[in-house]
Formats: sequence, structure tokens, C-alpha cells
Amino acid sequence: EKRDGDQPEFLQAVREVFETLEPVVEKHPEYEANGVLERMVEPERAIKFRVAWVDDKGKTQVNRGYRIEFNSAIGPYKGGLRFHPTVTESVVKFLGFEQILKNSLTGLPMGGGKGGSDFDPRGRSDGEVMRFCQAFMTELQRHIGQFTDVPAGDINVGAREIGYLFGQYKRIRNEYSGVLTGKGLEFGGSLARTEATGYGLCYYTAAAMRTLRNDSFEGKTTVVSGSGNVAIFATEKAQELGAKVVTCSDSNGYIYDSEGIKLDVVKDIKLGHRGRIKEYADRVPGAEYHEGGKGIWTVPCDIALPCATQNEIDGESAAMLVKNGCTVVCEGANMPSTPEAIEAYQKAGVLYGPAKAANAGGVAVSGLEMSQNSYRLSWTFEEVDGKLKDIMEDIVANSLAAAKEYGHEGDLMVGANAAGFVKVANAMVAQGIC
Ligand code: NDP
Repeated sequence: EKRDGDQPEFLQAVREVFETLEPVVEKHPEYEANGVLERMVEPERAIKFRVAWVDDKGKTQVNRGYRIEFNSAIGPYKGGLRFHPTVTESVVKFLGFEQILKNSLTGLPMGGGKGGSDFDPRGRSDGEVMRFCQAFMTELQRHIGQFTDVPAGDINVGAREIGYLFGQYKRIRNEYSGVLTGKGLEFGGSLARTEATGYGLCYYTAAAMRTLRNDSFEGKTTVVSGSGNVAIFATEKAQELGAKVVTCSDSNGYIYDSEGIKLDVVKDIKLGHRGRIKEYADRVPGAEYHEGGKGIWTVPCDIALPCATQNEIDGESAAMLVKNGCTVVCEGANMPSTPEAIEAYQKAGVLYGPAKAANAGGVAVSGLEMSQNSYRLSWTFEEVDGKLKDIMEDIVANSLAAAKEYGHEGDLMVGANAAGFVKVANAMVAQGIC
């Protein structure tokens, strides 16, 4: 805390994990003897760099780039890149720290990392986004590689940005390799990667509800926040599994559609022309648009799937969800619930699926993309989707087994932290103090 006192998001993420690890550390004195906890909160490498590029008016713009190579005990660093004005070292470190445990939970050999920039792509032309991505990769390329560090997308980094980043890497390094995931299908991408985080979230939620409650999505009113990659495909799969999804949102406001969200309209607005979600209300009679983000959590629902950004549900919003009958919260976004919100879920007996487990589907399919790149082959959509479903169901089963082993039966949060941590900790002990 002394060293990183100016990094609130990072400290929040570490506290949340460490508070639940006490029984694990008690059972494994070798972790303390080997300084595992102290080593795990210090990134192996934290890279911070200047990204200078020229905008459409010929003006030089300067942004800050980051790559946190957090932990490589079980595989090459792996984790997304986020382009958003709120990106700071603290945000990238919290995401990187979570990524260590998340990647471990997938069962695939991937270490933890994360990166990004405070670049705001909103209102930027395609040419500006391309020049920014090229400038960003000009520095990043010296730190990454298919066996070293394999970045992917995150907020505002989708297929377009990954394409520009990959093109620049190839140009500078003269090498065609699986150095990024989330690539286009024509150049090494995996089928089902786009859908993976949202679909995976629903596979996870369905498995947890089935195991712990003998229940399902069928007929459940569901609130989804966001309207980006994760939100769109979470809505698609939840609807397919029988839920009635009644909301979507962006950083300006939210839509309430009592008849159920028409996903083709959302896709047309967001994927078709990068529009604002407000447009939905102009196009769908009966749908309501409300300014501001917090109101979405006052919509009565059975299931809430936050899929926008960190700390979007605070204690007050969580209390409102519970009061209105919500009994399941599974996280598509990273750390969308504040500690006060988590406390409110726990007090009310809400089935709570923490992000590092519930949204691991994206990185899991990224891992499958790396395997396909190494084999130089492509699996079908059904093959990848089937593997994704198995992985998400295993995460639920392994989390519940770990929760039981460490005396917190049925607690998916303690279980995810313990199961993810033990594998990495054992690898760190085996590899010696470094
Ligand atoms: P996108 O950029 O595709 O979408 C993000 C969505 O969240 C947009 O609707 C955006 O609205 C909204 N949003 C962003 N910032 C804020 C904010 N400060 N307040 C309110 N709404 C906001 O990103 P993804 O869907 O990929 O990512 C969403 C979350 O899921 C993130 O937490 C990410 O880390 C996490 N995640 C993503 C994975 C992936 O595979 N993509 C994997 C695992 C986790 P607007 O357009 O107005 O900015």
C-alpha cells in the first residue's frame, strides 16, 4: 500500500483477492516462505511509453502507452489493450493483476498482462485511429512476441484496431506470427472469439445457476449494461437461453425496453456505424431512453450482467438491485462491482459470479487462437464454442471445489480466487525466487 498508494483501482483489486486467500495461505506455508504474495503484487515489468502521432489537421498529438507484464509463471504474458481516456497505470495494473488469476482459471498456459493508452478514439477518423495504432505498436513491438507477451483487445480495441496493430508489427518485425489475438479471420483469427466473452459469461451463469440453484435463464428478466462487444454477445446468448433482456447502455445513458431488447437494432447502431445507444429509442416504439449510467440498476430484474466498465455498481445500486428482486449477478466487465456492492450481494445471498471467472471466456478463446496459430489450422465455430462451454463449466466446477476445500462452500468468489491463485503460486514456488 505504501508503494502504490496513488493507485486506487490496483489496491482495490489486490485487497479483494487477498482478503479471501487467508485459508489458502494457512494451508500452504511454502507460499509465505517463498514470498509468493509479495512477489505476485509486483509486476515483473511495467512499461510506460510516449505515443506521438499526427492528427487529420496535421497537429502532433501525444498520448501515453502502457504494457504491464505482470506474471509469467504459467505462460507468456496475456491480456488485452484498452484505449480510453480513463486509462492510468493503476487501471492497467488492476486489470493485469486480475488477469493472472483469470488466465490460470481457464486451465490454459497463459501468464498475466495488460496494456493500453489514454487515447480517446471517440470522434477520431479511421485514418487517425490507424496512425495512432501504428505509433503505439512502433514502441510496443520490442516488448512482445508469440512466446513472450501476446496482447488482445479490450475497451475500444476491436477487430479494426487489432488489424492495424498486427499490420505494423508485421511490417517492423518482418514476421508473421500469433503475436496478437482477436485478429481478423483472414489473418489468423479464431471463429467465436468475438462472441466468446459474452457467450462465456452466459455459459458460466447458466452452469452456476444449475449447480447451485437447479435453475436456468428461462423466463428470467435480465439487465445487461453496456452495448459493446461483451454486452452484445451476452445479450444474444442470454436471449437464446430463454431470458428476457430489457436494457442496454453506453456511457451517456441507458435504454429500457419492456418488450425485450431488439439486438439487431443495437448491432446496427453500435457495430454498423458506431452510433450512440440513444438512437434505439428513436427506432423502437415504446422503448425508453434515460440519461446517465446509474439508473440502469433501478430496473427490476432477476439477473444482472454488468458488461460496461469498472465500479459501475456501487453499494447503493447493489442495494437497489437486491430490493427489486435480483438474485444473480455475474460480471462481464472487469471489477464492475465496488467492495460495498459485493458486500450487499453477500448479505442478501445473491449468486455472485466474479469477473475473473465469469468473463474468462474471451481470454480462453484467445488461448485457443494461439493454439490454432501454432498448429497453423482453424477450428470450426462449433468446435471453438464447444471448447468454450466446457472451459466455462470447468471454471464453475473448479471454483466450487476450491471453495469447499478452503471452508467456503458455495462461494464462487473465494473459489475463483483460490483456484486461480494456487496454480500460479505453485509454479512460482517451483521456479524459485525471482
Ligand atoms: P467495448 O469498447 O466494446 O464496449 C464498452 C461498453 O461499455 C460501451 O458500451 C461503452 O460505452 C461502455 N463504457 C465504457 N466506459 C464506460 C464508462 N466509464 N461508463 C459507462 N459505460 C462505459 O468494450 P468490451 O465490451 O470489450 O469491454 C467491456 C468490459 O468487459 C470491460 O470491463 C472489459 O475489460 C471487459 N472484458 C472484455 C473482454 C473482451 O473480450 N472484449 C474480455 C474480458 C473482459 P461508450 O461507447 O459510451 O464508451
